Amino acid sequence: MDLTASLSRRLATVVAPATGTAEKQLYFVALFLAFTTVVAISGEPLVMAPAYLAALSLLLAATLLAYGVPWERASPLCIAVVPLLDIAAIALVRDLMREIATAASFLSLIPALWLAARLRSRGAVIATAAVASMITVPTLLRADHLDSVVVAHAALVPVTVLQIGMLVTAALSRLDRQSAHVAATLAEKEGLLEAADMWKRRLENIIDSVDTGIVVVDRDGHDLLMNRAQQRVHASASPPGVDDPDESQLLLHYPGTSQSIPPDRRPVWRAVKQESFSNYVISVGPAGPGGADYSTSARQIIDIHGERDGAVVVFTDVTQYIESARKQEQFVATVSHELRTPLTSVIGYLELARDAIDLSRETASFLEVAHRNADQLLTIVEELLRDQAERSDSGVLTLGPARLSALLRETVESAVPRSEELGLTIEQDLHETPLQQIDASRMRQAIGNLMSNALKYTPRGGTVSVHTCFAEGGVELAVSDTGIGISDQEQTDLFTDYYRTRTALESDIPGHGIGLALTRRIVVAHGGQISVRSVPGAGSTFTIRLPVGEAAGGAEAPDRGTAT
Ligand code: ADP
Repeated sequence: MDLTASLSRRLATVVAPATGTAEKQLYFVALFLAFTTVVAISGEPLVMAPAYLAALSLLLAATLLAYGVPWERASPLCIAVVPLLDIAAIALVRDLMREIATAASFLSLIPALWLAARLRSRGAVIATAAVASMITVPTLLRADHLDSVVVAHAALVPVTVLQIGMLVTAALSRLDRQSAHVAATLAEKEGLLEAADMWKRRLENIIDSVDTGIVVVDRDGHDLLMNRAQQRVHASASPPGVDDPDESQLLLHYPGTSQSIPPDRRPVWRAVKQESFSNYVISVGPAGPGGADYSTSARQIIDIHGERDGAVVVFTDVTQYIESARKQEQFVATVSHELRTPLTSVIGYLELARDAIDLSRETASFLEVAHRNADQLLTIVEELLRDQAERSDSGVLTLGPARLSALLRETVESAVPRSEELGLTIEQDLHETPLQQIDASRMRQAIGNLMSNALKYTPRGGTVSVHTCFAEGGVELAVSDTGIGISDQEQTDLFTDYYRTRTALESDIPGHGIGLALTRRIVVAHGGQISVRSVPGAGSTFTIRLPVGEAAGGAEAPDRGTAT
């Protein structure tokens, strides 16, 4: 802080316009009386002189005026009356006490400062004129003789008054400018706060009016905001009789099951643990009828310093969507059931036709392909039926010796017509793999899902590559494509029931998000693993690894919802 600012602040406390006329006058009277007391104690008899008494009377009159007149309503120039009376009182005293005149004269600085503070440069000029006419001129008139020393001495007081008056004027003007600047800054900040408050209210209204549940939590997981829709979700997840349940008490389970979601897999908890995810489907409320399914997504909130500041989690009601997917599944199961009998008959007749002796080689090969495809169709139909049954039971495998490479080759052969239709090229790099204990029909289904996804999610002109090899004590099977790809974030939830990527949803490619979850269950039931590598827009590779030498048998499908 510079010197002028600090000086002006000190001056302001004594002479500032903010203090009233009465207070200023009282301050001056106190000084004057102190001066009078000192003079009286020093034995000077002049305090009882008529001129001194007249000065005191003037002072009294000025004080009565200071207290009696509503100065705040008077014009600023009128206020000069009180300090001018004070200066007149000083002039009388000064005239009386010639020896100690200088000290008395300097008392005039107080009303002069007051005038300058109140009326600025006009006040400084008025004060100087008053001091010059009431003190300096009488002094010069009464002087025994006039020389330059006497004139300079007499002029000292008005010159000092003028200088100090101008200094006060400059300092207070500067203070005024600073105050105006502070006031403008405050007004601007208030305006910004008001605008921010208005936007906050608008946003709250918007957030409350949407059907999607939105909850914002801080980095420790405390709720910062919960819109109306989310309050309803929260209420439906609360166990009966518990008013304010914590996250672990909420009734959340995996869709289509009564299996409760462990606390660390619950959406809000995952978000607090810094996970970002999309389309993570959960069921809310009591298991079974009455519960609702929600697709949940979470994003981390980053503050202006780039630090994590919490997370936002949204809950979208997908009950109807899942219900219709279930109905569709049911429909497929019914149709499959109806297809099985005629298909078995077709296969029987194809076998009879194939066994006829007078077939040309070409016809025999056509019948062979037709038989294999009808057989494949029957397998799929049976799989669909079994899958349907399996959703409500343990999913026990029926193992037998089979080669993964052979199953993949068959799948590719069946997929060729469809790939041609879609304008896709299939590339094969198949190395024969050893015989393993495999439930061939279920594994065919798993591989078929990967193949059908690769064809489905790859735009025309793309390539689907298949690969098998025997490496590092296990068999590896990979299906790659040059399709739409999957972001890193989405890969986390890819093997969860009903999960679909944003790109797939936005491209209107039909699907239900069931195939990969099922594929994963089949692979894991064989003691294997499935993984994905993908680059959005460039393609994906799904890899199945099965151990060799370990006869996986009768394994049960593991819990749903956790990706390997
Ligand atoms: P569906 O394909 O019927 O939706 P899936 O469970 O097979 O169900 O797949 C789940 C989701 O994973 C798909 O909806 C899609 O978003 C994504 N996905 C699967 N395979 C691929 C792939 N090869 N390329 C891009 N996305 C894929």
